[in-house]
Amino acid sequence: NGAVRVNMTNVDSPLQIFVRAKKKINDIFIEIDDYVKDAVTFMHAVSGENKIATPQDVANIEAYVSKVQAIREVLKRDHMKVAFFGRTSNGKSTVINAMLHDKILPSGIGHTTNCFLQVEGSDTDEAFLRTEGSEEKLNVQSVSQLGHALCASRLQERALVHVHWPRELCALLRDDVVLVDSPGVDVTPNLDEWIDRYCLDADVFVLVANAESTLMVTEKNFFHKVSTKISQPNIFILNNRWDASASEPEYLDQVRTQHANRCVDFLSRELRVCTPKEAEERIFFISAKEALLTRMREREKPVSSPILADGHQVRYFEFVDFERKFEECISKSAVRTKFAQHSRRGKNIAADVMAALDQVYNKASDMKSSKVEKQRVLHEQLSAVEEQLTAITRQMKDKIGRMVESVEHKVSLTLSQ
Ligand code: GDP
Repeated sequence: NGAVRVNMTNVDSPLQIFVRAKKKINDIFIEIDDYVKDAVTFMHAVSGENKIATPQDVANIEAYVSKVQAIREVLKRDHMKVAFFGRTSNGKSTVINAMLHDKILPSGIGHTTNCFLQVEGSDTDEAFLRTEGSEEKLNVQSVSQLGHALCASRLQERALVHVHWPRELCALLRDDVVLVDSPGVDVTPNLDEWIDRYCLDADVFVLVANAESTLMVTEKNFFHKVSTKISQPNIFILNNRWDASASEPEYLDQVRTQHANRCVDFLSRELRVCTPKEAEERIFFISAKEALLTRMREREKPVSSPILADGHQVRYFEFVDFERKFEECISKSAVRTKFAQHSRRGKNIAADVMAALDQVYNKASDMKSSKVEKQRVLHEQLSAVEEQLTAITRQMKDKIGRMVESVEHKVSLTLSQ
């Protein structure tokens, strides 16, 4: 299918923070798994003839095997999630495509998506679509097919469509980033429902704004809702279509400062999700269209419109800068939110199993000392009996001795008469 397979192993990428943490925590859970299984074997051994562990003790420990298994399953699927929002046609799909280095999502006029699209890695070589709640895989080979499939399936606004794309083709997908494209915030009244369904577990939100206009009330409202449901959401603002500024270079700085100030104000003062200084690091002026074109060319994919406006390199660097800061933010946030609870649960399981083993150990030593005690009591009783016996024997001896003496005496008396 003409796919260009690229070697994108980037050990310096901040995404590796997540990738390495995931590997580590997976390894730890393999150890916990072994430990729990050993404990089960031990419990079975001590529940046999000697009955140190009760069937309940064995069942309690066995329950941890499936618990650990369930956590390992969740861990395998854990990923970093970024959700893109903004008004229709601001360039959300184009931003996602540029980040994926390929035209994966359909974009442009006539391709307004009215459902949520979640792009994620596929472990096979194939690209396919799957609608939430259905197991049916719809194969897609090209973007036009994807656009067609999306239209044909008459998706509802509330639906979530999974787009599985070969991991080997995109660095972000390979490193377990999942990207969610949304219908424009201007076309739906169901903001609350969206957030609840698709965004509560997002590590990063990207607002794709239009640098040719100011932030709209609908865009602002959406993030007001997000920040009431999620504490301190990580929000980036991309002022897209910044290539338009090339036609009016004399106003460039002025317009940029004005936009930047408004965005800083929105994030720090209105939403209060970060300080003004932090907000400055979250705002970028880019051209997704140019970034995508540049990347398509790098991968020697056929592209049209070869002429890029003045300053495209600066805008491209800013896009790359955004990606780096985004990667750092998303991997740290995902490690904190996803792995912190797993490691807490892992610790608890290890502690519980340890406590159960301790209990069995204590019971065994109690049983041992009670046997010793029984023996001691028996021993004392025996000694007492022995003493009594000795005393009785002595008395008997004396008695018999005296009897013999008296008999002898009587006999001798009789004889002498
Ligand atoms: P979405 O509805 O937010 O997903 O927007 P799209 O990604 O579909 O983009 C809408 C249109 O804007 C498409 O024709 C894109 O080619 C165009 N577009 C996207 N980004 C840029 C940009 O940075 N500069 C310019 N000039 N056009 C852009």
